[in-house]
Amino acid sequence: MRMLERETLAQFGFDVLEAESGEQALEILAKRQPDLVLLDVDMPGIDGFEVCRRLRQRWDMTGVPVIMVTGLDDPASIDEAYEAGANDFVAKPINWPILGRRARQVLRSAQAVRQLCELREKQGAVMRAIPDMIFVIDWQGTYLDYKPGSVRTSVRFEQRFLGKNISALLPPDASGLVQQAIDAALLSGKLQSVIYSLPLEGEIHYHEARVVPDGVDKVVIVVRDMTAEKLGEEKILRLAYFDTLTDMPNRQSFLEHLDLELQRARRDNIRVALLFLDLDGFKRINDTFGHGAGDTLLQEVAMRMKEKLRAGDFVARPASDAAAIHFARLGGDEFTVVLTGIEDTQMVGQIAARLQALLAMPFLIGDREVTVTLSIGIAIFPEDGEDAATLLKHADTAMYHAKDQGRNNWQLYSGAMTVQTAERLAVEADLRKGLDRGEFRLVYQPQVNAADGTVVGIEALIRWQHPERGMISPAQFIPVAEESGLIVPLGDWVLNAVCVQVRDWQQRGVFTPRVAINVSARQFRAPHFLDSVAEIIAESGISAEQLELELTESILMDPESRQVQGMYRLRALGVHFSIDDFGTGYSSLSYLKHFPIGMLKIDQSFVRGVPDRVNDAGIATAIIAMARSLDLDVIAEGVETRGQLEFLRAAQCPRVQGYLFSRPLPPDEIEPHLRRGSIALPATASAD
Ligand code: C2E
Ligand code: MG
Ligand code: MG
Repeated sequence: MRMLERETLAQFGFDVLEAESGEQALEILAKRQPDLVLLDVDMPGIDGFEVCRRLRQRWDMTGVPVIMVTGLDDPASIDEAYEAGANDFVAKPINWPILGRRARQVLRSAQAVRQLCELREKQGAVMRAIPDMIFVIDWQGTYLDYKPGSVRTSVRFEQRFLGKNISALLPPDASGLVQQAIDAALLSGKLQSVIYSLPLEGEIHYHEARVVPDGVDKVVIVVRDMTAEKLGEEKILRLAYFDTLTDMPNRQSFLEHLDLELQRARRDNIRVALLFLDLDGFKRINDTFGHGAGDTLLQEVAMRMKEKLRAGDFVARPASDAAAIHFARLGGDEFTVVLTGIEDTQMVGQIAARLQALLAMPFLIGDREVTVTLSIGIAIFPEDGEDAATLLKHADTAMYHAKDQGRNNWQLYSGAMTVQTAERLAVEADLRKGLDRGEFRLVYQPQVNAADGTVVGIEALIRWQHPERGMISPAQFIPVAEESGLIVPLGDWVLNAVCVQVRDWQQRGVFTPRVAINVSARQFRAPHFLDSVAEIIAESGISAEQLELELTESILMDPESRQVQGMYRLRALGVHFSIDDFGTGYSSLSYLKHFPIGMLKIDQSFVRGVPDRVNDAGIATAIIAMARSLDLDVIAEGVETRGQLEFLRAAQCPRVQGYLFSRPLPPDEIEPHLRRGSIALPATASAD
């Protein structure tokens, strides 16, 4: 029998080792590991079943296929063969041609099983290496199996959860999401991914569940705790869309929001208002109290706005909800408000006024009370612009007009403003050229003793001799020069030209009184202005006593100490200081003490009203009296009539300046007046 088996198997390409008994078989197998074992049940000594059982107990033999050769085709011994660990059986009498094929088949399937085992082991290792929790869940949401994650996860999933439904373990919204994903995965046969949040130990955790269909009625779900990623993402989003100083939506967020609102407005045919807010005098606060205080102020402003905007009562209309107002910080002291679904511009105006009223109450910065006002420009979709960029530009233009109108007010955009802005730009470019080409001139207007007409000074006033547009008044280009910063080189030019003129007159023996020069605020605040005055005087070689700088009241509001010191230095050199257009600004005489001011120039607007208008007369008289008590000189500007002169004389105003005596004149025309040293009132002047 053994010989026949060996011959048959050899024909099928097997190498065959033979054993006469079970004991001998076990001995051989201890030294060599075969690919296949053919075992007869009936053997001397221990039988085939026993040999098979012992084989199976050896770890290295578990995978080796065993075919049992049973005596009879009886079911009991076949069962026993399988129980002992056999892979297959062959019944006697042996069908020889079949034996070889059977052996080959068993060998092949054993190999397949071995490969499968190896694969499973590998997969097991991979699974263990995956930090995520993995669940098998049936189509109804019942947990069938799970693998705990190997890293710290926020959920402890335990064996006892198996058989339970996800709705019993997850909060309703999370389990709803997961169940939806399961349905979708089974329906589409494709991977689904959902993120849900879980409150755990007082914190919100975010889980991502990736649901993969596994057959038609169950899914595999890979769950990952992605709280850290999610928070990082939110932080990045916050950084991208929120201003770090005030925690308000930033420029980017504003632009995106406005875009969305405009899309909606186009579709629904409604209007959107864009309010551009700018704090007045914020720079002054920054300069005076420091940037820390400036930052605090911005935070306080933002907070107040946020609080009030959130309260639904801010906009008094039924349809209003807080979401209809979007408030953002563009940067610096600029803010925007977007209002949707507005009915009329009047309503927008009311809201603008309310925003202003909101800031009217002082802010407490440190131990100081600070008040700020707000200039607001308004542009409305679709009238003032179809897209965000245009609306923003126009609201900005309107805001500048609000500033020009004396701040603390709001302006609706109008097309004319853009024309004006364009004009401004053209003027600015022209100014630059004019400076290069030497198109500027100075004219001089005498200042005389009110009693006898003696020339006590002259004021230098700039003129622009434009090649095409002729003579341009400073009222038209000084504001543009100030805004563009060109006032600094322009001011230097004036200072130089005056010094050169004074030296020329002095060299030619012309009596030269003190010359007043106008200094604008922007020029005065330029870093090297006060030093450059001293330099220019020194270079020209004239006496500093010859010069007087006319400042405006606004310059004296919160100047930097460096500037005050600079003024005292110049005063020590001999330079005089006066306040131009006095009475139109803050009109507080008390702060004048802090500066080396020698003279006040009563503004033309008051002089124009005397003697008839009681208010003006009163103010003019009061300024003259107060100036005297403070030991300051006074000059009245814009004196045009005898009546005005008489009034001023009666009020004991020592000096006057105005058309009544002389218009501003070019150097060669004023020279005769200087040589004479006094100006007589023309006979015709007495007619008015
Ligand atoms: P301001 O310094 O108050 O100069 C007085 C203005 O009143 C001058 O106008 C002058 O021509 C005008 N004026 C003088 N007397 C009379 C009068 O009796 N009646 C009337 N109605 N007006 C009179 P101007 O020259 O057009 O200058 C306007 C403003 O431009 C000046 O006001 C001053 O603030 C500014 N400005 C002029 N020259 C310069 C300059 O060189 N630098 C700077 N920064 N500003 C200048
Ligand atoms: Mg002046
Ligand atoms: Mg003036």
